[in-house]
Amino acid sequence: MKPLIVPFFISHQGCPHQCVFCDQERISGQRPGLPEPEEMIATIDRHAASGRGRPLEVAFYGGTFTSLPRSDQERLLAPLQPLMATGSVARVRLSTRPDAVDGETARFLASRGVATVELGVQSMDDAVLTAAGRGHGAAHVEQAFASLCGAGIDVGAQLMPGLPGDTADSTLESLERVLALSPAFMRIYPTLVVEGTRLAELWRSGDYTPLALDDAVSLCAAMLRRCISAGVPVIRIGLQPTEELERPGTVLAGPWHPAFRQLAESELFFDLLQRLTAGIPAGSDLVVVCAPRRLSDVAGQHRRNLVRLRERSGVAVTRVTGSSHLSPYDLEVVYAGGTIAGNVLD
Ligand code: SF4
Repeated sequence: MKPLIVPFFISHQGCPHQCVFCDQERISGQRPGLPEPEEMIATIDRHAASGRGRPLEVAFYGGTFTSLPRSDQERLLAPLQPLMATGSVARVRLSTRPDAVDGETARFLASRGVATVELGVQSMDDAVLTAAGRGHGAAHVEQAFASLCGAGIDVGAQLMPGLPGDTADSTLESLERVLALSPAFMRIYPTLVVEGTRLAELWRSGDYTPLALDDAVSLCAAMLRRCISAGVPVIRIGLQPTEELERPGTVLAGPWHPAFRQLAESELFFDLLQRLTAGIPAGSDLVVVCAPRRLSDVAGQHRRNLVRLRERSGVAVTRVTGSSHLSPYDLEVVYAGGTIAGNVLD
């Protein structure tokens, strides 16, 4: 059964840096501060009551957990120990920076039952990391992976396409280097210009241009496709919409879309549709068959894929229909000349 996440945001707590893109408070919509043990227990109890028996996974997001004083790390993890012993809390995960993890830290986390650590990798290009004010290099990422995996902890990685100095090629190279470290999962956050950040100043002065939405979608679709072929789940693409993030004046520029992941998934299917229909005569009518849960991804938002296909290839999709025989990334195109099948990974 999929775990129910019990999130605790520790915005900027423990963070010794100020990355050019970051304003955790605005991005997460949470106020800074560490939760008190009583508050944590009450929150966990609330989730248990509404979770209908789903296992609970406590998650510390939004800061650099392992840069907190060890006493604070202990204080946050201590209330969870009896709950893990009884099974009330199944797992604990947290996020941190690659240069804030060494072997001793990884062993401490493992001893307190932390099962998963998400590393804010952002890029594996040292020049991009420097321009982003990250304060660490790609070597720190490799060391952190080694320490955490050595302690038996699952490691996830976040990448941020579109940072200053980044290109599509360097993003895809970063992805390859991260995949070589065998991450348990990935998150992909296209860079946005958020008010109050150094990036906002660079954007205002003309020294930074974010990715256009279409370019970001294409790049993230390519990243998604590579992760699928590597068997690495991508658990998020694009920031989660929050009230703060959607407030006018918060995101100043960049490829923001509240359903960014669906745009990237749809792009994969549009690429496949173009390949499958390349030899079909213009003017043909088609029926497209996909896995039932992929109907809206295949058609695209506002049927955009079907409109683009007609404009570019001159073929008309008269119907998109579901078949439970097809896997999530399969498509069949049926037309007067027969049926053509393919998969987004082909
Ligand atoms: S991205 Fe992470 S490391 Fe950078 S300023 Fe924000 S919280 Fe700190």
